[in-house]
Amino acid sequence: MAVKERGAGSSAPHATMAGSSQPYDVLILGAGLSGLATAYYLKKTQPEWSILVVERSGTAGGLTGNWIDHRFGPDKKLQMPMHMVFRQKYKNLLKLVDEEIGGSLSPLYKGYTIITGDGQRHRLAMEDWTARRLPPPFHALGMFAKLKMPLREKWDLFKLACVSTYCAKEILEGKQEPRRVPNTLSLESLELILNMGAKSRDFLEAVTPSIYNLHPWYTSAPRMAGVMAGTMTLSKDSLHYHVFAKNYNAAFIDRFVARLQEMGVEFRFWTEARRLEAAADGRRVERVWVRPYGPEHPQARRYVCENCGAENYLLDRAFCTRCGRDTTLDRVRSGEIAKPVARELWFDAEAGGCVPLECRRLVTAMYPHMIARLLPAGSPLRRHPYVRSFFSARGNQTQLSVGRVYYRKPVTRGDGEITGTHNPYLCFNGCQSVYNNFGGADLGYEGDVVDVLLDVGVIRDAHTQEEQIQRILFDLQRVYPDADPALAEHVSFADIYPDVLYLSEQPAIAGLHRFFDTHRTGAENWYVAGCHSGTIGIGMESAVQSGMATVNCLL
Ligand SMILES: Cc1cc2nc3c(=O)[nH]c(=O)nc-3n(C[C@H](O)[C@H](O)[C@H](O)COP(=O)(O)OP(=O)(O)OC[C@H]3O[C@@H](n4cnc5c(N)ncnc54)[C@H](O)[C@@H]3O)c2cc1C
Repeated sequence: MAVKERGAGSSAPHATMAGSSQPYDVLILGAGLSGLATAYYLKKTQPEWSILVVERSGTAGGLTGNWIDHRFGPDKKLQMPMHMVFRQKYKNLLKLVDEEIGGSLSPLYKGYTIITGDGQRHRLAMEDWTARRLPPPFHALGMFAKLKMPLREKWDLFKLACVSTYCAKEILEGKQEPRRVPNTLSLESLELILNMGAKSRDFLEAVTPSIYNLHPWYTSAPRMAGVMAGTMTLSKDSLHYHVFAKNYNAAFIDRFVARLQEMGVEFRFWTEARRLEAAADGRRVERVWVRPYGPEHPQARRYVCENCGAENYLLDRAFCTRCGRDTTLDRVRSGEIAKPVARELWFDAEAGGCVPLECRRLVTAMYPHMIARLLPAGSPLRRHPYVRSFFSARGNQTQLSVGRVYYRKPVTRGDGEITGTHNPYLCFNGCQSVYNNFGGADLGYEGDVVDVLLDVGVIRDAHTQEEQIQRILFDLQRVYPDADPALAEHVSFADIYPDVLYLSEQPAIAGLHRFFDTHRTGAENWYVAGCHSGTIGIGMESAVQSGMATVNCLL
């Protein structure tokens, strides 16, 4: 994807910030990857425009960047390297990292182990002569041959891979949908349609969410299974995880922010947007009300979230900017907050200490449920179809949550290998040892820390925390057989955005706005960036791509 040449569209500075002499042309809400990408491509094409990025937490990067656990004291922070990059899918992100901002990406895992339902461990790595000598998709023959399943089932998988190669190629070339893989209800139906054996379906079920962050129950699972198989057979590289070297923030996000500042983009951290105000006819956003509340505010007080370890400040609200845990009421009871903000954040914004930012153009670079909170009941902005759908969404919530185990001693893993498991409780990347990735000196923790992503909120809710801990320890031992559960010091859960992250039923916010890719809201000066509006599914590439596309719409 490319961004329009400089000069397209109008460029006269127009917006002003109330109470300030400095005009801003574009206001961006959210300093996640999509907000940063929007600011970058906008400033590159329109260097004379003034841009302000408003961010409610203390750091940029959003879901990717702010993963430091402060619970072990100021000198002992754990940074969670949960993010992985797929080299041939993440073209725009990698261009940004490698060529524009300058970060350090290294392939961390050479192979991938999948544990299927029957307990078999399958090693996925293209290192044999077929991978070296044969063209795709045949270079994957050796890998398929090593799977521990009957020959006929391996052959079924290979056939699927051949069909999918074509589809995956189309996706990688920027065309959206794979056309030739059935998009039916479940992997079971794929099994019936393609007459696949149970073991090959089991394999797909295990490998698909592990690599693509989709639960197999999702309707798109068969399609993604096909894409997965196709991607593997297109490129050997698809099996390698690329992770930002060392501290992700320092390696990339901090550098990104510094670069934007050099270019003249301004940032306001610890500033929460609380209300979008429209012109009476609802055709434009007139101003945004924001509440500064960080360390520079004389009444604000620092606290560390008990749930996820993020650093926060409380003023009229105690809301964790990372996991969304709201402890305002507890703190009102304990006297830490004298006058809480109303539940509707927009309620009498001015009396609530908010300041208005007048804007000519607004880009919201955040998830729809975050935007929905900024729109007062009765706001004419709610009439636009895009916005209306935020409020009409119905669906069961699927929470995304991180389980973290602190070990007294390091646990081991295969050299250069990452492990995914079949268990839906751990259906993302299986288990990763933070310690092994980053080293003790970086972490200030002598033992080992293992993070586990729990994707299936519906199932999670059906069990007590004690049961979940037992399951995590059980699964850890399947992945790291020498991890003695008795050595676990502490297990914690961090619920990420409990409001909503992914919704499992349609129509639902996430479902409606995935792949939405127009970036227009209906209000003439309000544009939407954010990974949910990109074309390749929720993720970092989508966030960057959405920033580029938003700039194209805006110019
Ligand atoms: C645990 C986990 C693991 C993941 N692993 C991967 C992976 O391996 N690979 C991958 O590609 N993707 C992964 N993702 C997804 C990826 O992190 C996101 O898709 C991407 O970072 C989203 O970027 P964004 O800019 O759209 O949104 P966000 O990162 O959510 O940015 C939104 C920003 O807006 C700010 N904000 C919200 N409300 C307000 C307000 N009222 N006022 C001011 N600011 C506000 C937020 O603080 C945030 O900084 C993972 C996500 C999680 C949670």
